[in-house]
Amino acid sequence: MRKPLNFQLIKGLVTDIDGTLILHGKPIAGAIEAINTLRKRGIKLRFITNTTGRSPSQLADMLISLGFDVEAHEILTSVTACADHLKANFSNKGGYFAVPDNTAQILENLGIHVSNDEESAEYIVIGDLKESFDYPLLNRLFNYVYQGAHIIAFHRNPFFFEEQKVWLDSGAFTRVFENIANVKATITGKPSPALFESAIASMALLPEQVCVVGDDVQSDILGANKAGLRSILVETGKFEAVHLGEAFPQADAYTSSFAELPRLLINQIPS
Ligand SMILES: [Mg+2]
Repeated sequence: MRKPLNFQLIKGLVTDIDGTLILHGKPIAGAIEAINTLRKRGIKLRFITNTTGRSPSQLADMLISLGFDVEAHEILTSVTACADHLKANFSNKGGYFAVPDNTAQILENLGIHVSNDEESAEYIVIGDLKESFDYPLLNRLFNYVYQGAHIIAFHRNPFFFEEQKVWLDSGAFTRVFENIANVKATITGKPSPALFESAIASMALLPEQVCVVGDDVQSDILGANKAGLRSILVETGKFEAVHLGEAFPQADAYTSSFAELPRLLINQIPS
């Protein structure tokens, strides 16, 4: 049994964006005011998302246009976590980037030199290349992994939904490579710890002073649990009542929406 969450100790929030702050492109009621109140009371904020196609500054522009007070450096994505991982573990080492141009551009802007080392890739990065995953590319990636290259990927999802159909996703290939080579990929998106750890490292707070907020038990809450962080599940976005049951990852606290956080953390009603 974990100790109850002491809201008074919380000095920073790592919050999900979609379904937690915005829904269908519009702010969740009261979320903008809640962010403002939390900031006034000195709560540090980081915003995390598994998006690979948009940079932190593009995401900041989107949130600012909706009325949120955010800065690009406060936004972390599975791509920024990948850049952090590469800098920490593979600086000055060659790798092979199987990523689309927009992801490559974001990595370049984060200081990663995205040039494919075809001779001696010590790691591969698997992005969402969709129809560009042809046999020569998959075989090339397989050969790097077979020769010992580390696998870095943004997620392990085998498929995704679009246009009322299911589509094979890049996580399927990540799983195949892991399986054949009997290795584990480093996954930089939620629910893997990398993104959460990147966020904590950027806040200059102790993990016990930080709480994760999200609407998705399988990415936000499970991710917080894996990273050893406390969490609050908001009952908006992907939330369903069934998620409160023991079959799902359990949060430390629940609240009807992000708008309630100032009341929980600092006994303040947003103004
Ligand atoms: Mg969400």
